[in-house]
Parts: sequence; C-alpha cells; structure tokens
Amino acid sequence: MPRRVIACAPLTTRPTRYRRNVSEAPGSICPRRPHSGVQELFTSKADTLPVHFVEDPLGNTMAEKPKLTQVFANSHYAASFEAESEDEVYDARKEALVKSMLGEIGEDPNREGLRRTPLRVAKAMDFLTSGYSMSAEEIIKKALFEEDVREMVVVRDIEFYSMCEHHMLPFFGHAHVGYLPNGKVVGLSKIARVVDVFARRLQVQERLTSQVADALMEHLGAHGVAVVMEASHTCMMMRGVQKQRSSTVSSAMRGTFETDPRTRSEFMSFIKG
Ligand SMILES: [Zn+2]
Repeated sequence: MPRRVIACAPLTTRPTRYRRNVSEAPGSICPRRPHSGVQELFTSKADTLPVHFVEDPLGNTMAEKPKLTQVFANSHYAASFEAESEDEVYDARKEALVKSMLGEIGEDPNREGLRRTPLRVAKAMDFLTSGYSMSAEEIIKKALFEEDVREMVVVRDIEFYSMCEHHMLPFFGHAHVGYLPNGKVVGLSKIARVVDVFARRLQVQERLTSQVADALMEHLGAHGVAVVMEASHTCMMMRGVQKQRSSTVSSAMRGTFETDPRTRSEFMSFIKG
C-alpha cells in the first residue's frame, strides 16, 4: 500500500513553517506523481522543488526523500544535492581514470547523467574482476566430502559472465562441468563458484576453460575432469566482424576424459541431453 502523502512543501522549508504557505486540497491526487495513486492533502504554491511529507506505518510524519530526477529537474536545488552525492568517493584513482576516459571520447563528464558514472564504473569493474582476489582452492577445500561415489558427476548450463582481455568487453554463456570422483565429492554450488573465480577476470575463453578444469582436477583429486564452455563474445557481435549469432565452444579434458573416449562421449551425451 502506498504511503499517504500529507503535504507537499518546498525542500528547504520545515513542515511547520510551510503550512502557512499552502493551499489545502485534501484528497486530490498529487499532480507531480499522477500515476502513483497517492493523495496529497496540501499543495505548495511556491515555485520550488516540492518535498512530500508522508506518514509512516506508525503514523509519524516524515519528509520523503525526493527522487534524484526530481532534484535535477529543478536546477535551483541541484547544487545542494550535487555536493552531497558527489562527496562519495569509492576509489579516487579508478574514478579519475574513468572521468578522463569520458573526456577523451568526447563526452562531458560533468553532465547530469555522467556525474556519478566514474564511481559506478569503478564499482562495476571491481566486481567484474573480483576473481583475482578469490581462491578456487579455498572454495573447493571448504566443501569437500569423503564419499564413495564412482559415477560421473555433471553440472551443466552454469551461467557465466567474463570479459575478454583484448577489448575488455563482455563474453558470456554456459559452462558444463563433469568429473569422475576419486573418493571425494564437492558441493555442487562450489563448481559454479569455481567457474566465477576464473570468469571474473580478464580472460580468453580457452584459458578460462583450462583454468576451471585444472583447478578442479588439482583440488578435487578426481580421476578426471571435463569442461565445455559455449560463449557469445560481444567484441565480435558489437564491433569487428559483427557476427551476432556465432558462438564459441571450447573444451578442456583432463585425466580419464582425456584418455578414455567412452568416458568423454558419455559426458558429451549428458551435456547435449
Ligand atoms: Zn575481444
């Protein structure tokens, strides 16, 4: 249920002072948010940015924080809000680099839509490359169980997102992972996390595939590991040859999967099914 708007007042005015300066219009739909369905009881006549006073579930009156789009719609108030939001620094060096990049491509880094872009890009980059600070060994070792399973374990269609190291553009797709346990099994979600450890770095698909296979082979002590990855590369789709429907398949076979064609074809039939 939407909170009930009980007043619209200029941003800088406190409710008590403000009420002398309003026209009472109980029950009317707030003209600034006609689709919200909230009703306002007072409307400001002042030509300034409104702030809505709302009632919380306990009946207390409080000022509702205006949306940023509202704030910037009125440049008169933009200055004070800018200062507040631009105080936030996430990573000064990365943000400065992104800002100068924006300038280099002919953008105005100070225009409204781009003002906080360096901060957002810095945060996104840190997340997309967070694999550098993760350890596949730690993830696997924490969820390794002794179990006398001799049959092949296959986890297929593990979604992954990575970035090509040549263009720093995304490539993404699915990974299929199989292994033949040798007295130990690992929690299935950990296999997906190992894929992320290597995907969240600058990569080429072939190396990504091998690294996942090698890490599992080493830390699982398995008889064999198979990894097949299918991916679409945005650096091929958006630029270069501009082929939107091509996909790249890479595989890495270790241990029994490499030496025994029957094991390999059993795995391939699992991932196709
Ligand atoms: Zn590329």
